[in-house]
Amino acid sequence: MSQESEYSEGDLRNTGMSLKHDREWDYELERIVEAVEEKDAKKIGLQFPEGLKRRGPKVADDLRELVPEDVTIMLSGQPCYGACDLDTYLMKRTDVFVHFGHSPMKDTDKVIYVPLFSNVEVTPIIEEALETLEPAEETPEVGLVTTAQHMNRFEEMRDFLEDRGYDVKTRRGDDRLTHEGQVLGCNYASADVPADQVLYVGGGKFHPLGLAMEHPDKHVVIADPVNNVVTVADTEKFMKQRYGAVHRAMDAEKWGVIFCTKIGQGRWEKAQEILEDNDDAYLITMDEVTPDRLRNFDMDAFVNTGCPRITTDDGPRFHKPMLTPGEYEIAVGNEPLENLEFDTFHGTW
Ligand code: SF4
Repeated sequence: MSQESEYSEGDLRNTGMSLKHDREWDYELERIVEAVEEKDAKKIGLQFPEGLKRRGPKVADDLRELVPEDVTIMLSGQPCYGACDLDTYLMKRTDVFVHFGHSPMKDTDKVIYVPLFSNVEVTPIIEEALETLEPAEETPEVGLVTTAQHMNRFEEMRDFLEDRGYDVKTRRGDDRLTHEGQVLGCNYASADVPADQVLYVGGGKFHPLGLAMEHPDKHVVIADPVNNVVTVADTEKFMKQRYGAVHRAMDAEKWGVIFCTKIGQGRWEKAQEILEDNDDAYLITMDEVTPDRLRNFDMDAFVNTGCPRITTDDGPRFHKPMLTPGEYEIAVGNEPLENLEFDTFHGTW
């Protein structure tokens, strides 16, 4: 399962590389203890994304030393891949609820967000990326984007590029994004800048692929400071996979329309639009969208209105074609094939 892959630590199976850097994070325990004192809390809920879950018990141990003995600490065992994915069950049943590893998708007092910035140096890999970017003398404009995890070094990235003659273009995308220059696996609005090239600083191959698909006219260079590698986003293989899924779904009669019940992944109107237009479409509600959970539904194809990464990254694992809402419109003949786009997600909840 990929989805928000910031913390997947990269898929190194086929690269022959090993992680160059260890990562350490500041869990901001003082901030949590302060909230516990202020609210006289008796229950604390801690939620970690998948790649950091193994650190949960140690953080709970450290917290236990700092809070009164009668405070119960609970770790969320629910899958978590993004700030869109809060454990609302645990949130409602605890006095202090802490979500680690993502920046807030929406301002709320109910959640303490601890972003866990990476301590990895970013300038050495940007230095290397200069060879792949167009030279500043010829093309000075460059867009700069990164993930929440490296956001603490955004100014350092900008300064580094400016010192080398670049005119760095940045913007804050929309409400789903907390910071200027931040991208999510489902939202690249921060890359809508007046520059023909964009430097993405971060790990994982999924973010920059979506970015390159959203902005096919831009040269997208990926500088991955964790795995220490520079690449250029290549969407060809990915597009072929998506065209394949759309083609396989073109004969489908019975459609399962998935509405995701995770707090930041619901696109009710999108799901309704499809249902209104298709008598052979059935609404299926679920939180975690997995191949196993869908296997027993007798459908010819599915359309997922939840996290776009499930469709694009995990699509081939489902027993029937799994499409994004835009791909569905193509498969049923409402839109031409050339309108195939990356599925992005805007708004919060
Ligand atoms: S919906 Fe967006 S923020 Fe949430 S897991 Fe998917 S890509 Fe990440």
